[in-house]
Amino acid sequence: MSKDIFRIIPMGGVGEIGSNFTLVETENHRVYLDYGILFPYDDFFDINYLIVDLAEIKEDKEATLFITHGHEDHIGAVAHFIEKFPKTQIIAPEFAANLIRLKLEPKKLPCKIKVYDESDHFTYDQIELHPLHVTHSIPDTYGVILKDTSLDQSVLFISDFKFDLNPSFEKPFDTQKVKDLFTTAQKRICLLDSTNILNENKTASESDLLADFEYIFSKNKRTFITLFSSNIYRVKNIFELAKKHKKKITTIGRSVNRYLQAAQDSDLINLADYPVKDFDAVDNYQDSNLICVVTGSQGEHLGALRRILNGDQKNIHIDEDDLFVFSSKPIPGNEKKIYQLYNRIAELNAEMITNRDLLIHASGHPGQEDLKQLIDVAKPTHYIPIHGETYFLRKHIEFINKYYPHVQTLYLENFQGLDFSTLQEKFIGIGQKEPLLIHGDGHVIEREKISERRKMACNGVVMISINQKEQKVEITHAGLPILADQQNLKLKDHVHYLAFNELKKRDYDYKQEQIRIKVRNFYKALLGYKPQTYVHLL
Ligand SMILES: [Zn+2]
Repeated sequence: MSKDIFRIIPMGGVGEIGSNFTLVETENHRVYLDYGILFPYDDFFDINYLIVDLAEIKEDKEATLFITHGHEDHIGAVAHFIEKFPKTQIIAPEFAANLIRLKLEPKKLPCKIKVYDESDHFTYDQIELHPLHVTHSIPDTYGVILKDTSLDQSVLFISDFKFDLNPSFEKPFDTQKVKDLFTTAQKRICLLDSTNILNENKTASESDLLADFEYIFSKNKRTFITLFSSNIYRVKNIFELAKKHKKKITTIGRSVNRYLQAAQDSDLINLADYPVKDFDAVDNYQDSNLICVVTGSQGEHLGALRRILNGDQKNIHIDEDDLFVFSSKPIPGNEKKIYQLYNRIAELNAEMITNRDLLIHASGHPGQEDLKQLIDVAKPTHYIPIHGETYFLRKHIEFINKYYPHVQTLYLENFQGLDFSTLQEKFIGIGQKEPLLIHGDGHVIEREKISERRKMACNGVVMISINQKEQKVEITHAGLPILADQQNLKLKDHVHYLAFNELKKRDYDYKQEQIRIKVRNFYKALLGYKPQTYVHLL
């Protein structure tokens, strides 16, 4: 029996939505599938994102970073990977490659990306990696088929897809390749997307949205359409309809322009084919024929949509003749911010259409019917749910057990993998590390510093400077009510007494700590809470 190494270990993206990062390991190679970011929860105080810690990653084998598609939860952390392992070969589909280049340009990071398409395949020892064209919510998305040539087994790994056989502007999901390279193997292991497992139906196709967009475009109203900017084929459908209905188009927001630039560079769209103008070049901003594609569908504080609704977008004044179209769905956690926008639109008496009114949004992930259609082609013997929070992974397992009881389900968590080196797979684990928090210009911020930020944000900050030579006390505080200002003199006297009478003879450290404790107690008695307090003895 073969002893060739073949292991798959998810290191991100399982038990969470984001930071997709999966290791495929053979005797001489490590292939990392994607290296994305995880968007932070609210209590991380405006950090940018989280990434998987690379500290434990060994460099004793040839390494390849294989990108499946250009979503941020798959490419968002690539710069960190290159900084740590500058010699890694990066292989990516063209659109993702162009998005990565745009990301790395300002950092001046050297980066050679080999672009692949569905005609390529790569060999790592006994494993052949075949990119599989799949349909999703961003162009140029791939799954992978890992064909083990030493054992009669194949792995189908698709973290993001929907089973769309009638997509717009691209080929349908490539079922033929699944049949040829996967279904033919004796042992067939599927690792598939859990994002939309709670949906019992089939996910709508991008092309299903056209009819309701036709209806929207038949209205003679200036229209603001907000959507995920990376969904280039939806933007392209909107541009096509705008052209057909003799509308004018402009775009507002950095990310929509960045994705369109990368799409143009990747030959996915030719902007010259459409009546689209830069926002600054629009002749008549009040034109009822104007279609504005805008960012900010998730209620982002810096998003264009919020800016427009707050009256902060130059040349745009909203009134009751305007129409707002949300071609999107709230990502869990963003509902409050989005409802603020809905309320603002209502206050302005403008018309609003969301995905609850018309079929104007389609998910990029498989409902149960999509999974069934793929499983019926792939005929797996083993099945591992990926790309989802724990609850979704469990539901995915229940779904497989219910409809495909003969398929062996395996449950994995991050840093827990499977060894397929023999026909009897084995569970393996590797050292788990907490994700790193990234803020500002790509810098790590330690968890205890976030805890400090939390205390400052919740209870305010007080700084006490004591000049021992001149016997002077200065108090500065931030984030405390005016009531605290009014008590400043009293506190000053109290600190003065402590520093120059009661604790006069005590050593520096003792004095500093006692004053800190007493100042905190002073505020506790005054306000009911203790601010973060810093004491400097000069
Ligand atoms: Zn995706």
